[in-house]
Amino acid sequence: MQSGAADALAVVHEHILVCTDCPLHLKRTQAVPGTGPAGARIMAVGEGPGETEDRLGRPFVGAAGNVLTKLLEGIGLRREDIYITNVVKCRPPGNRDPEPAEMEACSHFLDAQIEIIRPDVILILGRHALARLLPGAGGISGLHGRRVVRGDRLYVPLYHPAAALYQGSLMRTLEDDMRKVRGYLDEAEARRRQPAQAAAPGGRAPASPPATPPAAPPPPTPALAEPLLRLVSNVPDEPAPRLAPPEPDEPAPRLGSPDPVEPTPPPEPPGRDQLSLF
Ligand code: URA
Repeated sequence: MQSGAADALAVVHEHILVCTDCPLHLKRTQAVPGTGPAGARIMAVGEGPGETEDRLGRPFVGAAGNVLTKLLEGIGLRREDIYITNVVKCRPPGNRDPEPAEMEACSHFLDAQIEIIRPDVILILGRHALARLLPGAGGISGLHGRRVVRGDRLYVPLYHPAAALYQGSLMRTLEDDMRKVRGYLDEAEARRRQPAQAAAPGGRAPASPPATPPAAPPPPTPALAEPLLRLVSNVPDEPAPRLAPPEPDEPAPRLGSPDPVEPTPPPEPPGRDQLSLF
């Protein structure tokens, strides 16, 4: 089953490598689809390839990448276990910000990557990724380090690692936020184990592995991802066991939950899916 996801992801990568849908392809050395296992439980999404990434064909391998790797390792995660990609897959010339039309043209690739991998948590690196993945949710300064649930996806917005290179004080903030990410993962892992332990005699963990919690139904595929996903015929029917299953029975505290340190972002505009912070 996992090879189905790996195959599907490989097809998406192949399409990215030959994509000419926006002008960014004209100046690229190569496109940068993403790296990491198709079964990754954690995904990190940045803005776009820089000079080093454009040259090497891999995301976050320059100075910002070194920061990201250290941050991940700082909370006991191995970079190679995480699927890392960007909102745009080709380098914006001179490292300028990606333009809305470029992000739009590329968005079906990211949608397909998320749909195939179905990670337990998506780390949103910086404001461009935040605007793309959680439009209308608020700014990075209000959301960084917080869990945001939208649909059946769990996101944690973070400052972009490159920001810490320019503004040293942000490194501390990033480290603090990564410690929160560690806590979220630990909580999710503990919740995942809890039912199996409670069911075992004496409250001890059973000898056999705990049952995989039921997978949430897949979210509606965004319209832009549809053409590509149709090409990807072997997307797995069932996702890998999830580290942080959505918890429909235990809704997270909603906006305005008592948390004196974190500012409350503005409510969702009407008609959008509910944004939950906890
Ligand atoms: N490298 C990337 O791959 N993405 C970024 O956003 C920054 C550097």
